[in-house]
Amino acid sequence: MYRLCRAVLQRVEREKEQMEKSQAKRRIVLAPIPGQGHVTPFMQLGKSLSLKGFSITVAQGQFNQVNPSQDFPEFQFVTLPESLPGSEFERLGPMKFLLKYNNTNEASFKDCIAQLLMQHGNDIACIIYDEFMYSCEAAAREFKIPCAIFTTTSAIDYVSCYIFSKLNLEKFSSDIEDPELKEKVVENLYPLRYKHLLPTGLGPLEPVMELRREIVNKRTASAFIVNTSSCLENSSLSWLQQELKIPVYPLGPVHISASAPSSLLKEDRSCIEWLNKQKPRSVIYISMGSFYHMETKEVLEMAWGLSNSNQPFLWVIRSGSIVNSFPDELSKMVSERGYIVKWAPQIEVLAHPSVGGFWSHCGWNSTLESIAEGVPMICRPFQDEQKLNAAYIESVWSVGIQLEGEVERGQVERAVKRLIVDEEGACMRERALVLKEKVKASVRDGGSSYNALDELIKYLETD
Ligand code: UDP
Repeated sequence: MYRLCRAVLQRVEREKEQMEKSQAKRRIVLAPIPGQGHVTPFMQLGKSLSLKGFSITVAQGQFNQVNPSQDFPEFQFVTLPESLPGSEFERLGPMKFLLKYNNTNEASFKDCIAQLLMQHGNDIACIIYDEFMYSCEAAAREFKIPCAIFTTTSAIDYVSCYIFSKLNLEKFSSDIEDPELKEKVVENLYPLRYKHLLPTGLGPLEPVMELRREIVNKRTASAFIVNTSSCLENSSLSWLQQELKIPVYPLGPVHISASAPSSLLKEDRSCIEWLNKQKPRSVIYISMGSFYHMETKEVLEMAWGLSNSNQPFLWVIRSGSIVNSFPDELSKMVSERGYIVKWAPQIEVLAHPSVGGFWSHCGWNSTLESIAEGVPMICRPFQDEQKLNAAYIESVWSVGIQLEGEVERGQVERAVKRLIVDEEGACMRERALVLKEKVKASVRDGGSSYNALDELIKYLETD
């Protein structure tokens, strides 16, 4: 009898402690890297968690900061004091920049957490850091705060980085010369082929390997959040679940669950008026994301092809995104059927009834946004993550076509016609609409992404 009472008392104590813990610890610290494709999904995840009653603190670097006042009055924003300036990105290139960014941020982020603990008391339920901000884990470990990784790229990209990071670089670089191995599918992971494992478009391989080894080292992270849906990437998610040995929460696309306008550039809304004047599903929308640069020659071939296709087009050309300079003849070529903006409200554009196709570099956010609006795509990936997304778009979901090799005007014209005018494009659109419904269902009550968010909340409340 005495033993039973003691056990009950202990249980009550434990539950009380648990309740106090979950009531008190309602703050989530988010740590994205300062790029549009990372900040946006982080803010969307933040909104979702805030709607569930969590307080959100966003730790930002010195540049590409989200404007806190307008759209996120309920969030707290803190700036990491010694974070690298944006000019270092240009100087070092993305891989070395990210390695240095982490080195510099480790102490800064610890200071930031120490200050938050002093400011708010011990109320941090979890630090959710970007896969590329792995140095944040050191603060979580030091202050004994649970931490979780959030990957804003696709699940297959993380899988590919993971497999690559375990390779012997020298041996693999020579083995992969074999054309048969190149095309071989990695077991159970179609469309991932061995050639996709070898990074392209990222500069020398050693820093890529170094960075990837850091990224896939989960350290003390006890959860893995990924902006995807199991209806899109089931095989990669099963692989991750098995390999990582911590819970995996595929709760995307996060932009459907919570809108969180976090554009780092000013959106030019005049393109919506222009779209209003176009015929339904006639326009091809072109955007290469937030940091890619294009050669003048490629831009001109694209412009010729677009103009010869006789279809209207809306083209995002960011300031300074054309290597050398903006060619004068471009404005003339575009003026008849095209419209150029420096930055568009992309989700609104993709949802517009006049848009019939999206010419994209296949960044993961753009891919998800296009799928969520049922818009088929022309894929023009630049580097390996985008190439994998393009492989999915073309050969798994069959909602797009890929442009390979050097861009040439005839090829552009044909691709646009195939997508917007031909029967082939109409079939792709039908499949895109089916996929859209599946993805939307996954974030609705009872869907897989909805349930994953619910599970994540439980984890955050009880860990
Ligand atoms: N985007 C936008 N307006 C534009 C072009 C892009 O708002 O004119 C947004 C787009 O909606 C997406 C993000 O920028 O959310 C780009 O992310 P993605 O992962 O596609 O590519 P990245 O920029 O990381 O290469």
